[in-house]
Amino acid sequence: MSSEDFSAYKERLLLLRARILGDFSQMEDLSLRKNRADQGELSTAPSHMADCGSDNFEQEFTLQMMESSSEILEDITAALERIEEGTYNTCEICGIKIPKKRLQVIPYATMCVKCAEKEYE
Ligand SMILES: [Zn+2]
Repeated sequence: MSSEDFSAYKERLLLLRARILGDFSQMEDLSLRKNRADQGELSTAPSHMADCGSDNFEQEFTLQMMESSSEILEDITAALERIEEGTYNTCEICGIKIPKKRLQVIPYATMCVKCAEKEYE
């Protein structure tokens, strides 16, 4: 995977994080949301990422959002760290490269499909 690929996934992860944080802030009171915006948390989100989204991606993301936003936030943070370490697209169980197709759907995936299936059996 090239460094351009890595930075594309990084941008997508940052956007996802901003969106999740945005959703959380709707449940919080207005002053909390203002504080977060002042800290620049939301302003780190690239604005051109909307072009990269596909319907499938949006759909899957919405489904997962309903499961657990905070778990996804942890996964996103871990994925961003993995990008920095250069292990982003490596399955953390078996060590094979996670296919790009999978990362396009779940940019914060830490396991290949086979290992993920085993994990959730
Ligand atoms: Zn694996």
